[in-house]
Amino acid sequence: MECLQGIAVSHGVAIGEVLVLDNEGFRIPRRFVSRDAVENELERLAAAMAAASAEVERNRNRVADQLGDEYAAIFSAHLQMLRDPRLQGELEEMIRQRHYSPEYSVSRVLRRYAKVFEELEGGYLAQRASDIFDIEKRLLRHLLGRRREELSQLISPILILAHDLTPSETVNLNPKFALGFVTEVGGPGSHTAIVAEGLGIPAVVGVGHFLTDVSGGDMAIIDGNQGLVIIDPDEDTLDRYRHEVEEYRLAAVKLAALSHLPAETSDKVRLELMGNIEFPYEVEQCLKHGGDGIGLYRTEFLYLGAETEPTEADHYNAYSKVLQAMEGRPVIIRTFDLGADKLATLPKPEDEKNPFLGLRSIRLALSNIPLFRTQLRAILRASVHGTARIMFPMISTLTELRQARMVLADAMEDLEESAVPFDHDIPVGIMVEVPSAVMMLDRFLELADFVSIGTNDLIQYALAVDRGNKDVANLYTATDPAVLRLIHMAIRTAQKANVSVSLCGQMSGVPRYTMLLLGLGLRNFSMTPSSLPEIKRICRAVSIGECEQIANRALSLETANDIRAYLNDEHMKRFPDMPLA
Ligand code: PEP
Ligand code: MG
Repeated sequence: MECLQGIAVSHGVAIGEVLVLDNEGFRIPRRFVSRDAVENELERLAAAMAAASAEVERNRNRVADQLGDEYAAIFSAHLQMLRDPRLQGELEEMIRQRHYSPEYSVSRVLRRYAKVFEELEGGYLAQRASDIFDIEKRLLRHLLGRRREELSQLISPILILAHDLTPSETVNLNPKFALGFVTEVGGPGSHTAIVAEGLGIPAVVGVGHFLTDVSGGDMAIIDGNQGLVIIDPDEDTLDRYRHEVEEYRLAAVKLAALSHLPAETSDKVRLELMGNIEFPYEVEQCLKHGGDGIGLYRTEFLYLGAETEPTEADHYNAYSKVLQAMEGRPVIIRTFDLGADKLATLPKPEDEKNPFLGLRSIRLALSNIPLFRTQLRAILRASVHGTARIMFPMISTLTELRQARMVLADAMEDLEESAVPFDHDIPVGIMVEVPSAVMMLDRFLELADFVSIGTNDLIQYALAVDRGNKDVANLYTATDPAVLRLIHMAIRTAQKANVSVSLCGQMSGVPRYTMLLLGLGLRNFSMTPSSLPEIKRICRAVSIGECEQIANRALSLETANDIRAYLNDEHMKRFPDMPLA
């Protein structure tokens, strides 16, 4: 049994067999071969080894011709290994004696060799491990010839252990079969993490290098509450987690009873608790959990889930479906926030060194007006089916907001000319997720009917920490005093101008922050639908007065750790049965 710590990004526990996807995306199943097939499989292995050797030899000769023998030495070493009778013998024995598939044998034996080098002291020798991985990949490429596209076509329940998963790969996972995932890289605010929450599957990211120690078919537990992954668990551990899964299920049943009670505090201050969605099908979850509306519809997932660029009709159909299903409740449709870690089939900006600071979001929309206009037309046309609102993401200057409004006005004029019906008074709002927007909010509000604070980005831009980078994950925290002040300032500015303000970052759905946010003046929360019951339970149990005291005390503290510890204490005093993630 091996227990690894990562970053918990989507709660819940999953138990099952693993599928390992290394950083080249090879899927290495533990497939057994039947007795009759052994000879064939041995031939397959021999063919793969011969093809890999021939390839390396060609490379060696080419490099030797062009650069000289010293540079070709690396290939000679690879060749020597590939032709090593001991390696060959070990692989053949695994197939012959244990009936393992050649892929599994290659991965198992070579990973064991690599581990020996990795554990040696001294950088130079440890680097030899990467040569061995190189050989493993080369052999797997010849044996498998196929890659991770298969992820969307899983046919049996499995836990996915991968070097990394992109948000588009994650959205294509079928939660019926993908029971949970763990990645070596990734940070707490990545969109991959957010999608996992939306799918309702446990996920742990940023575990660091560990895939070399696991093989497809091994048993594992993903603990998305504590951020743990346990490989090859013993019986006691399995029992403990099975029990936890059952308790979790019972708690969810109890909370479900709250879903149709109003969202209000114990002193009867009415709140709005809304859901964040990425796809129309998530509306059902939002309604089931008693959501008062959709506070954030991340429409860019329409591009990420598709192989070709969505047409105006695709946009229109998706938005109409959501508006109709929400039966008059408000739906905030955010225009596409592509770029950074959300890349679609659109041409990529060239050579972006810092994609989160690059051509992302509203900037991409304003540099691609036809694309932007297509989406706006669709939202306007769909607006007749319910209560739609339009929200622009990542506004950082007043000019951007003016330009975005101009494109919208143009789209409205076009529709008017063609006598297409739409809601002429559709409210238009902005995300407040860049510190410049907080600082300039009073001016922005002259052009915005509502605002929504996007803490996922606000944290990264305020603290200069990449939300998707595990190595700075300890700095990525909503409890940083600077972040608290920014949130407080944004709420106060909006309230002073009488403009509705909500918060749709992940912190909205985290129990330890609920009292703080209420105390800072927030009355509208938007979160992953599955978090709605817990947050409603907290809201209904506390008064605004006590929350204000908590917020004032938190604002007086100086470090993220102090604030976090204080909020944890206050939460546990009142809700001891609601564990802190
Ligand atoms: C945010 O930044 O808080 C937000 C809600 O938007 P996204 O996570 O899609 O960037
Ligand atoms: Mg954002």
